[in-house]
Amino acid sequence: MRAVLLMVLWMIALVLPAEWLHAGESEGSRWGYEGSVGPLHWGSIGPEFSLCDKGMAQSPIDLLRTYKVDLARIEFSYKDSPFHVINNGHTLEELEPLSEQVASRYPRHGQTVLHFDKDSTIVFDEDLYLLEQFHFHSPSEHTVDQKHYPMELHLVHHNERHEAAVVAVFMEEGKHNPFFETFLEHAPKKVGEFIEDHERAINPMNLLPKNLTYYRYFGSYTTPPCYEGVIWAILHDPIEVSAEQIRKFRTLVGHDNARPTQPRHKRFVLESTYPTTKVETKR
Ligand SMILES: [Zn+2]
Repeated sequence: MRAVLLMVLWMIALVLPAEWLHAGESEGSRWGYEGSVGPLHWGSIGPEFSLCDKGMAQSPIDLLRTYKVDLARIEFSYKDSPFHVINNGHTLEELEPLSEQVASRYPRHGQTVLHFDKDSTIVFDEDLYLLEQFHFHSPSEHTVDQKHYPMELHLVHHNERHEAAVVAVFMEEGKHNPFFETFLEHAPKKVGEFIEDHERAINPMNLLPKNLTYYRYFGSYTTPPCYEGVIWAILHDPIEVSAEQIRKFRTLVGHDNARPTQPRHKRFVLESTYPTTKVETKR
């Protein structure tokens, strides 16, 4: 029930005039990816961001020294949904008047696709999570043995207790990707702008690789206020996008939007032992 309420709140946010969305911009621009407001300084921008410095379970991390175990497969059940893409720069505070709960969930950053179909879910760790939005980073935030991929997709979910689960998919240079192209075509260029297209639907199933083997660890949001308690599943296999598409995305964002890797401290990274294959869902 609460999930439904939150969906309604998101929708209210979408129908608010663009001026209202702009209102929070000065607040949001307190942090960024470059210079004195870049990731190395997030923790000292204000006390509300202190976890970015002091947290002991921060994301992203380098995925090396994993423990191979027999992890349960993640059951993906994503449905077609109309496109709602919002460009709110790096702004989190824009949404504050809505509710504390909204502010406490994964901040939307850059060009974010809001996914309103409440039937798009995953079953992860025996828990049902609702897909809320997805967005992209370039270069990748997670690394494998210090190696970055050119891009990384984040599919952000939450369960009934408002706990976040993020599924990350690495994106490597290769074939042209028609599903990513739909996103590129729709992405708004200006901060505060959003684009809705009810004619066209997207199903994020198309942004998953065939093999759903994953790394799993406990971390945080990769943007201020860097809240912890986020369960991460990073798929082992990348998907392909063309060099041209990577270039287009980078032009759109205008700068790198990846937080550097964080200390692992005593955390374990688990890696599933057996390949599990994507099951194509019929509608
Ligand atoms: Zn992200």
